[in-house]
Amino acid sequence: MARITLRQLLDHAAAHDYAVPAFNMSNMEQGLAIMAAADATGSPVILQASRGARAYANDVVLAKLIDALVEIYPHIPVCMHLDHGNTLATCVTAVQHGFTSVMMDGSLMADGNTPASYAYNVEITRQVVQMAHAAGVSVEGELGVLGSLETGMGDQEDGHGATEKLSHEQLLTDPEEAERFVAETGVDALAVAMGTSHGAYKFSRQPDGDVLAMDVIEAIHKRLPNTHLVMHGSSSVPQDLCQLINDHGGEIKPTWGVPLEEIQRGIRHGVRKVNIDTDLRLAATSAIREVLVMSPGEFDPRKYLKPAMDSMKAQAMLKFEAFGTAGHAEKIRSRSLSQMALAY
Ligand SMILES: [Zn+2]
Repeated sequence: MARITLRQLLDHAAAHDYAVPAFNMSNMEQGLAIMAAADATGSPVILQASRGARAYANDVVLAKLIDALVEIYPHIPVCMHLDHGNTLATCVTAVQHGFTSVMMDGSLMADGNTPASYAYNVEITRQVVQMAHAAGVSVEGELGVLGSLETGMGDQEDGHGATEKLSHEQLLTDPEEAERFVAETGVDALAVAMGTSHGAYKFSRQPDGDVLAMDVIEAIHKRLPNTHLVMHGSSSVPQDLCQLINDHGGEIKPTWGVPLEEIQRGIRHGVRKVNIDTDLRLAATSAIREVLVMSPGEFDPRKYLKPAMDSMKAQAMLKFEAFGTAGHAEKIRSRSLSQMALAY
């Protein structure tokens, strides 16, 4: 039984100065590739599913898939996390399906598009914390609205994300407010807004301090040294994968992601969970495009899904190594949800 809560996993990461990549997952190929990478590097892992992923794969399929992955790799601690929960019910149903951690994103209203007030965010997040902690399950909250400091626009991930133009104030988490938010809600981890956004088109140039405000992370960490910080939208968007896609009929426009060095800087200042979705999508798509263009007669899906898995595994291994996660799997002993519930 290698399932673990976010709380236990990130406490271990904080004690040993590393971060854990949280990979989005909505199908078997992603799950197998991520777990193979965790196994190859001896890393604990966070698998996360958004509402879009749950709708795509079906909750029952996801639940059984996670059971299978945990059984195949009993020595790898696996945290199963809900990405961007929008209501209490979304979080409760995730717990019913075996998730050990949920994110309640109260920075947006339940529609997933409209920026919410601080008071609303505190109220809904506190409700989720009360429910989840009673079950031993961990909670990630979010303060500040994710979006681009270049354009002021929010970003959409599976239909979730602000749709209106945002002010600089909304786009950057206020450190003083973050301290209050954590005290008032009791969250285990906090997602902060500092210029990262979802998807491949994060920055129109190599990011600097004007568009990627890493100093906000440092300021929040100073006030909340014991709160685990989460970076969303933190794919690095490798140029070689974009090139491979474009070399085989794709049309990825010039774009930049979050450089690994900036994430490593965040890890030195309390970042313990780093969300990665785009990079594995690019890895899969580049491999599939290459096979289909080079072998146009091919029609066995395994002939392009296997290379896609190999490419995703390679990307995931890079993250485990870069974030310092590698080698820690065997050092973690996970406690049961009942033990966690009683400890809260
Ligand atoms: Zn996110």
